[in-house]
Amino acid sequence: MNTTKSESIYSEAVQYIPGGVNSPVRAFKSVGLNPIFVDHAKGSRLYDVDGNEYIDYICSWGPLMLGHSNEEVLSGVEDIIRRGTSYGVPTEIEVKMAKLICQAYDSIEMVRMVNSGTEATMSALRVARAYTKRNKILKFEGCYHGHSDALLVKSGSGTITYGVPTSPGVPADVVKDTLVCRYNDLDSVKQIFEEHGQDIAAVIVEPVAGNMGVVAGKKEFLQGLRDITNEYKSVLIFDEVITGFRLAYGGAGEHYGIKADMTCLGKIIGAGLPVGAYGGKKEIMDMVSPVGPVYQAGTLSGNPLAMYMGYKNISILKDNQNIYKELEEKAIRLENGLKENLKKLNIEGTVNRAGSLVCLFFANGPIENYEDVMKCDVEKFNIYFKELIERGILLAPTQFEAMFLSNAHTNEDIDYTIKSSYEAMKIAFNK
Ligand code: PMP
Repeated sequence: MNTTKSESIYSEAVQYIPGGVNSPVRAFKSVGLNPIFVDHAKGSRLYDVDGNEYIDYICSWGPLMLGHSNEEVLSGVEDIIRRGTSYGVPTEIEVKMAKLICQAYDSIEMVRMVNSGTEATMSALRVARAYTKRNKILKFEGCYHGHSDALLVKSGSGTITYGVPTSPGVPADVVKDTLVCRYNDLDSVKQIFEEHGQDIAAVIVEPVAGNMGVVAGKKEFLQGLRDITNEYKSVLIFDEVITGFRLAYGGAGEHYGIKADMTCLGKIIGAGLPVGAYGGKKEIMDMVSPVGPVYQAGTLSGNPLAMYMGYKNISILKDNQNIYKELEEKAIRLENGLKENLKKLNIEGTVNRAGSLVCLFFANGPIENYEDVMKCDVEKFNIYFKELIERGILLAPTQFEAMFLSNAHTNEDIDYTIKSSYEAMKIAFNK
C-alpha cells in the first residue's frame, strides 16, 4: 500500500496541529500507524490522497447511515449555500427539523440544537441540574459523553466510586459531583442511590455503549435506571449520539421501549455536518433560556446548511424504514461471518452486535462492561487492523470502537470483509 502523499501531509500536519489531527483517534496512534489523509468518499468507499480505496467502517463514526455523499441528501445543497451560510437569525428549516425530531422521539417534546455531541450532553446536564436543584450526576464506566470537564471521568478503584479526572486540566473539584458505576450493573446503581439518591440530578447513559466497542445495555438494566430515577426524581438522560436514528428510527428509546426524560443526539441529525441536539420533556426544556433561567447558546447552532442536510437525511430514514431491516440483515451477515472465522481458526473472541453496530473483541465473552472489554488482546487487534487496511478495509483504528455499517455497504462488501478478516486473523494469531 502506497501512502507517500499521506505521509508527506502528515509530516507537515504535525508541525501545525497537535499530533497532526483535530481529534486524537484519527492519528492511528493506538494501532502504531500514521494516519491516512482522505481525498473523497462515496457510498461505502473512502479514497485516500494516494488513491487507495477502502471499504469504510468508520463512516464518520456513525452519522452516515446512507453512506458517503448520498445524492439525495446532497441535492439542493448548493442552492442553500448560495443563499447564505449562517445568519444568526432564525430560519424555518430549524423549526422543521425540531418538529421532525419531536415526532420521531416519544420522549422529546422540545429540542435545542447545538454543534456537537459534547455540547449536547454538557447542556443537558446543566439543565437537569437546574431542574432538580441538585448537583451530583451519575455516569458509567466505559461510556463516553464528549469531552466536557464534568464528564471526562473514570471510575476510581472499586465498583462504586467518585470520579477521577481522565485528563490533566480537569480539576478534581469539577468532577467531585460525578459518580461512576459499572455498566449493566444495577446493584451498583441501587447502592449509590441509597447513599446519594436525594442529591443525584441526573443519570446519563449510552443505552448501547458505542465507545467501548459495542456493549448493549441490558433491558433490565435500562429499565432499572428508569425506575430508580423515577423513584428519586432524578433526570434520566439517554446519550443517543451514536444510537439516535440508528438503532431504530426512534433510537434506543424506541428499540427498548423506555422513555428517558432527556435525550442527546449528535452527528446523524446533521448528516455528518457539525450538529448535536438535546431535548426532552417540555417541563424540563422550559428551563432553557430565553424561556427559563438556564443559559445555553450558540452562534452557529441550527446552522442552515447542517439543518438542510440533516433534515433530508432524517426524512429519507423516516420514509424508508425498511432501511433499518436491511441494515440489520447486513450487520447479522457480518456478525455471523466474523463468528464463523473465530470458530474456524479457534481464536478467543466475541462479536457483539446491536442493530447495525458490530464489534469484534479479541477476548472471550460475554462482554458486558468495561472490565470485560479491557480483557481484549489489543496487540492482536493492532496486527489485525494493519492486515485489513492492507486489504482495503478501514476499521476504526482501535479495538474499542464499533464497526459502523451504512445502507451503502453491499453484501459483496461484507463478504469481502469476512474473507479478509479470516486472513487477517490467521496472521494476527499465527494460525
Ligand atoms: N456521546 C457519545 C455517545 C459519543 O459517541 C460522542 C462522540 N462520538 C459524543 C457524545 C461526543 O460527540 P462529539 O464528538 O460530536 O462532541
